[in-house]
Amino acid sequence: MGSGSVPPGGWQLIRHWYPSPNCGPRRDGLTPRFVVLHYTAMETAEAAIERLCDPEAEVSAHYVVCKSGRVTQLVPEGLRAWHAGAGEWRGLSDINSRSIGIELDNDGASPFAEPLMESLEVLLGTILRAWDIPCTNVIGHSDMAPGRKFDPGPRFDWRRLASQGLAAATVESAAPNHVSMDRFRAAARGAGYTAEASDNDLLAAIRLRHRPYASGPLDEADFTVLPGAASFA
Ligand SMILES: [Zn+2]
Repeated sequence: MGSGSVPPGGWQLIRHWYPSPNCGPRRDGLTPRFVVLHYTAMETAEAAIERLCDPEAEVSAHYVVCKSGRVTQLVPEGLRAWHAGAGEWRGLSDINSRSIGIELDNDGASPFAEPLMESLEVLLGTILRAWDIPCTNVIGHSDMAPGRKFDPGPRFDWRRLASQGLAAATVESAAPNHVSMDRFRAAARGAGYTAEASDNDLLAAIRLRHRPYASGPLDEADFTVLPGAASFA
């Protein structure tokens, strides 16, 4: 989606259907409230799709967006795909039952291809509208599983999504007078990071999302990028 005008209802996206057996009903009547973004960390999108359809792999996602921008749907949005695994966000577990999973064709080290980003933007906009999901509920796999998962990784352009209302913006707020890990953990919890994680894993996960390539011990800037709990819908 460039800077041009978007037609009413948004762009139509062609979704190629390639059903995966790796899915089931959402538990407890849950419906999608979140979108979780991943990278495939595989050589090709085709290899990733094969794996996401392999019953023995026991993994899947609703969508795979490949470098060319082609969108393949593996699981109907109403069903529970197996992409999130163990973890938690805002005190909620079983993220698979609460989310739609999108795999991005990327090895974790290379830039995300422009056609991929354009298709992702259209797809995300469509999903958020269809399920009335607020943009603050678009998260990375690393957000809900700090220390265990690192995707979509430091190369992913969250600011670009945020600028289009497709993800929470990184807002710079005032830093506290005293920087401590206890305070940081409390602020992180308020921002949604409730999954169990060591201090280092938690800090790394938040930097992945909001301060890619920051390093060193906890500092004031780590606080300033954490969105307040009050801003969540
Ligand atoms: Zn993932």
